[in-house]
Amino acid sequence: MPAMRWWGWGQDGVSFTHEDKPGLGPFLRKQIELDVTRAPSRPVAFEDLRIPEPSLSPDLRAALESALGGARPSTDPLDRVVHARGKSLRDLVRQRSSDLGRLPDVVVRPRDEDEVAAVLRAALDADAVLIPFGGGSSISGSLEASEQEQRTIVSLDVSRLSRVLAVDEVSRLARIQAGAFGPDLERQLNAQGWTLGHFPDSFTHSTLGGWIATRSSGMQSDRYGDIGDLTRAVRVVTPAGLLVTRPVPHTSTGPSVREMVLGSEGRLGVITEATVHVRRIPASRTILGYLFPTWADGLAAMRDIAASEASASVTRVSDAAETAFSFATRKKPSVLDRIKSAALTTYLQRRRGFDVESMCLSFIGYEGSERHVAAQRKLVGRIVGRHGGLCIGSSPGALYDQKKFDTPYIRDFLLDHGALADVSETAAPWSRLSTVYDTVQAAAHGAYDELGIRGYLMCHLSHSYHAGACLYFTFAFKPTSPEHGLQEYDRVKSAIQQAFIDSGATLSHHHGVGTEHAEWLEADISAPGVAMLNALFDGVDPGANLNPGKIV
Ligand SMILES: Cc1cc2nc3c(=O)[nH]c(=O)nc-3n(C[C@H](O)[C@H](O)[C@H](O)COP(=O)(O)OP(=O)(O)OC[C@H]3O[C@@H](n4cnc5c(N)ncnc54)[C@H](O)[C@@H]3O)c2cc1C
Repeated sequence: MPAMRWWGWGQDGVSFTHEDKPGLGPFLRKQIELDVTRAPSRPVAFEDLRIPEPSLSPDLRAALESALGGARPSTDPLDRVVHARGKSLRDLVRQRSSDLGRLPDVVVRPRDEDEVAAVLRAALDADAVLIPFGGGSSISGSLEASEQEQRTIVSLDVSRLSRVLAVDEVSRLARIQAGAFGPDLERQLNAQGWTLGHFPDSFTHSTLGGWIATRSSGMQSDRYGDIGDLTRAVRVVTPAGLLVTRPVPHTSTGPSVREMVLGSEGRLGVITEATVHVRRIPASRTILGYLFPTWADGLAAMRDIAASEASASVTRVSDAAETAFSFATRKKPSVLDRIKSAALTTYLQRRRGFDVESMCLSFIGYEGSERHVAAQRKLVGRIVGRHGGLCIGSSPGALYDQKKFDTPYIRDFLLDHGALADVSETAAPWSRLSTVYDTVQAAAHGAYDELGIRGYLMCHLSHSYHAGACLYFTFAFKPTSPEHGLQEYDRVKSAIQQAFIDSGATLSHHHGVGTEHAEWLEADISAPGVAMLNALFDGVDPGANLNPGKIV
């Protein structure tokens, strides 16, 4: 898997454009006063970056070389820059403006678990810092070292541990190496008729180990579960040796060590392998589009679906602002599409009494046998109908399904044109979701007003559970000046995060803590909770060599 570009998301040659989307330019001009017809700015050239010499003693270099079976550790400047950070908005803004922060001094790519253990031993012996690196898609600052770090920093890239090792067909469990990227992992499983079913938006550029280390969620989590549900056992190279848990369906062995590894963000060791649930590739799979008259109707329908016997694979509903954005990103419609769309609008307004300004777009997915899918569609259709919604067929859902991995490129497009956009996501019980939504709206728009800027805020509900769901907010604005961009971004992002905490929600449903969200951890899990985490990290890693400063 080639590394992502050093200044933005994804691969060279792939980008997002407004040119084939006639509604987007006018939408952005109206909502955030952004003119996308002006020439875009570009990141500084790599050649113009000032890259400090690595700090790597001859002894540590030799020890790493020996740990890697004679292969040379990399001090290549591009390698070091790519491994310095993830892809949060703060990361992208700073990279593009040549603010590189504290780079790792050396990047190593061990080939197996023994080499991982030998690298860790070499790092500990030299009192170096070691930061595990998966796909580098972290959005919460969980990869970057402190500017003050004086010790040598080793970035341990796990991407060479990329194999599906075995599938236990009877137990429906697969042993998979932690460095496997989403597409490669699915390709290997699909070849044997299986799927993991974990599809985060960052799927193309993130790894199994990264998912586990951040407690990730994929868009089909309603059916497959989050990575915490999917992960039955782990193997982790720790300072005290190899940690191995057993792939049993449930165990009563005291506090769960497996759970301690989930979300550990590299602070307990390097995950080398996991045993995960796999399922047969479903015979039938479809995502249908629905429209609801209002956000409250959509929310209530999702809650009722979760409480019903229906087992959808995806439940997602956008608020009116996100619905408007989705419509603005549609490609130029054909004459037939225009006629259909006009007919639908007339029908919605005249026959169903919809106000098109407040209607909400929803996607609900179904998987399984043909019969199961048909039965689920019927069950969900009844619930949707009870809340005033209607099905608009499979084409919008198919388009969403095809395009979902392209959306991460939008942030780079907006940055090229001088706007900042990012996301904050949370989870709360069903009974609190409306309050969380309203509190975030007030907080974000309050921050925009204080800054004197025109900002956009949109939201969708996804990942439904028995007791609640995830709310995923996206915010965007044009800063008053490029120099004030990150300061203004902090103001808005902090207001949203604080609103989560104030309204009884969690600081993050699936992006982890890193450094971006650490400020709200104590409010979320209480002071004794933070003390327990500190004791865990200090006990496992007394020298604070493993990705220090993250989470707490
Ligand atoms: C545009 C975009 C969209 C995203 N969409 C989603 C989404 O839909 N769902 C979701 O859950 N997340 C999403 N994320 C967040 C991110 O993709 C996840 O946090 C992902 O799980 C990180 O995986 P990674 O392999 O890239 O890990 P990295 O970013 O490389 O690392 C993340 C953390 O895990 C640690 N780590 C990585 N590998 C290991 C290992 N083998 N052993 C120990 N520690 C390790 C690192 O040290 C670091 O602390 C998104 C991010 C972006 C930028």
